[in-house]
Amino acid sequence: MIYMSIVKPLSPPDQLTFLECLNNRAKLPLQERQYLENLQKGAEGEKKWETHLRKLTSNVLILYDLTLEINHTYFQIDALCIFENIILAFEIKNYQGDFHINNNQWYSSSGNEIKDPLLQVRRNESLLRQFCKKHHIRLPIEYHLVFVNPEFMIYSLPPRENIILPPQINRYIETLNSTPAQLNRTHDQIAEKLLSLNLQSDVYRSKYNYNYENLRKGIWCGECREFVIRKINTLYCKKCETKETCHSGVLRGISQLKILFPNVKLTTHLVHDWTGKIVSNVTIQRILQQNFEKVSGSKNTFYI
Ligand SMILES: [Zn+2]
Repeated sequence: MIYMSIVKPLSPPDQLTFLECLNNRAKLPLQERQYLENLQKGAEGEKKWETHLRKLTSNVLILYDLTLEINHTYFQIDALCIFENIILAFEIKNYQGDFHINNNQWYSSSGNEIKDPLLQVRRNESLLRQFCKKHHIRLPIEYHLVFVNPEFMIYSLPPRENIILPPQINRYIETLNSTPAQLNRTHDQIAEKLLSLNLQSDVYRSKYNYNYENLRKGIWCGECREFVIRKINTLYCKKCETKETCHSGVLRGISQLKILFPNVKLTTHLVHDWTGKIVSNVTIQRILQQNFEKVSGSKNTFYI
């Protein structure tokens, strides 16, 4: 039986979702907005790579976005594939434009020096090897640097086995598909181990000062992020004309509230205020009752 199993699916990084929430409700400083843009580009790149990996037809276990730790050093792996005889890890870059290398320094199309991505890959590869050794994972490891943007071009790059350029991606996937592979319980155990040791960090949260009062209230469009208005029984986006039920819009609003304020106690009054008072208290209460567990506190009722 052939199967490709996604053990840990690709989802937008927590930090990206957090910054998008914050930026849309309180304008971030320029530097932070640029950082957010980089995160968005990175996430787009990972999505592109996920589309390529979906073409795998051999037995493989895939995990996206792992944060691991070895000897108090943290490292992130964009995508990791467990095959019968090898573990392939991928660092994904969504660079666009003409890049060149001069004396081992990388430069972007605008002539700015950028961090050599190969150094990052080398560092990660070494950390992953140490990690696997410590946790008795015995498959050999290869770490690849993948440039996924078709509009990426690099000059004076010495040929290296661990770099995959956009025109090589399809052939690379074909090569993987032509290698027969069987997976067994050991491979499942490796995937389970990686999953159980994956760390979730929210240190980024503490970098930002924000409070509830200063954030813009309302529900934004799931398609274009413009704030929506109420039109009879639905929510309506004037910018892209998307219509949505109050139910799903309010739920998205609640999930953003929880991203920004993880310890918040949901009450009808709070959610009504947070979503810009465009949905009635009665409807909010019904949505809370349907989707959350009711807890009766000493002062008021809240939902978790
Ligand atoms: Zn819209």
